[in-house]
Parts: sequence; C-alpha cells; structure tokens
Amino acid sequence: MRETFISVPLWISAGYFFILGSFFGSFANVLIYRMQSEKTTNLFKRSYCPHCFYNIPFYLNIPLFSWFFLKGRCRNCSKKISFRYPLVELLTSCLFCSLYLAIGWKWFLLEALIFAFFLVVCSFIDLDQMILPDSLTLSGILLGLLGAWLNPERFFIDSFLGFVIGGGILLLISYLYYLIRKKEGMGGGDIKMMAWIGAVLGWQSLFFVLISSCFIGSFLGTLIMLQSNKKFFDKAFPFGPYLAFSAIVYIFLERKFDFVLDFFSFL
Ligand SMILES: [Zn+2]
Repeated sequence: MRETFISVPLWISAGYFFILGSFFGSFANVLIYRMQSEKTTNLFKRSYCPHCFYNIPFYLNIPLFSWFFLKGRCRNCSKKISFRYPLVELLTSCLFCSLYLAIGWKWFLLEALIFAFFLVVCSFIDLDQMILPDSLTLSGILLGLLGAWLNPERFFIDSFLGFVIGGGILLLISYLYYLIRKKEGMGGGDIKMMAWIGAVLGWQSLFFVLISSCFIGSFLGTLIMLQSNKKFFDKAFPFGPYLAFSAIVYIFLERKFDFVLDFFSFL
C-alpha cells in the first residue's frame, strides 16, 4: 500500500506530479535543444522560437497547452514548431505521475524523478546526435552514489557495486567487440550510462536492464535495417534510449510486478 503522510485524495497528488512533470518536460526541451547547439551559456535564458528567435512570452509558454493553442506554429513567424516539444512534455508528465503512483511518498521518489528527468534529456540528445553528455551521465553517477549514501531506504554497497559492475560489463562488451570487429561499437557514453543506472538502481537491476535493452535494441535495429537496406552492423544507432527505457521499466517491475523479475532471476 502507498504510505501517505499528506491526506489529500490520490487524484490530486497524482495530478500535481503530472503538472510538475510538464514543467520539467518543458525544461528538458530547453536542455535538449541548447546542450546541442553549444549555447550552454544561454541555458537559463528566456524561451525563444528556434526559427526567428522571437522571445516567447510566459503566457504562451505553458507546457502542453501552448503548443496546441498555437496549433504548433510560432506566433511571430508562423513557422512550424516540432511536435516533439509537447511530446517530451507529455512523456515527462506521464513519467512523473506514474513514478509517484508506483513509488509513493518515499525518499526514493525524489531520486527517481531526477533520474527520469535526466534520462529523458539524455535519450533525446542521443537520438539527435549519438552523444550522451558527460555533464549528465557523470553527475547522474555522483547523484546515484550520493543518494544511496544519504537515503536510508537504499544500501550504499548495492549502488557502488551497480556502478562498478554496470560500467564494467559494458566496458568488457565494447572491448570484446573491438577485438572481434576491429572498430568501436559502443560509445563511452553508453558505458557511463550503464554505470549511472547501476548507481541509481543497484547491481540487482543490471541483468534485466542489459537483456531488455539488447532485446529492444536488436528488434528495433532490425526494423530500421529492413527499412533502410543497410547492413545491421554498419549502421550505428543510439543505445541510450533503450537503456533509459529499460531502467524505467525496471523501477515499475521492482515496485509493482516483482514476479516478472523473479522470472529473470531463474534465468
Ligand atoms: Zn518564430
């Protein structure tokens, strides 16, 4: 059962996390866009249209609503604003709301929300540029270890082993791949990301996350290959989003459907 120390109806608290998520989703869009364009000094500047640099007034910058209200176009230059903006906001909203419902009022909720927010930003940057920024993965590792140390619900040793083994497994895989294929298959970013996931979710999560992301990755990779007529191994594809997706799924399985993870422990 959910432990509540604040006696508000569930739909209100869940709604609160949904709305909170939409604002963080809006901030995620800013980071995704500005961390790539190397204008990191402008990280906290007002939102502007990417086409005409028109400063978007606050009343037109309401997450989710504004895009639909403006029918996906800039008010100033009428150029199209990508559907990805409201999509990222909706995704973050759904993540925040469902993480709250799965975890409840625990210290780990705070960690999970930060984790999910960073994962969203990382995934979209990886999709665009095939990069997982160190500023996010390395600070994620630090936060994960710090959280395990401070949070009485977690064990530091689980987190530390997750960090070491998570990074180690992918380092080993990429080294073997290099020995066999004589070229780099996996980026350093993926290695750091796996170490980060291990630090936040503990070593127990690693087997599931690795199997799940490889499965999804090879499934979608095959689809992309069939679409684009390219050889599978010649086409580089970002691995970060699959790791991120699997890590989030693990949180839900651990909290709500632990029998699925029992199955994995038999493998
Ligand atoms: Zn514009």
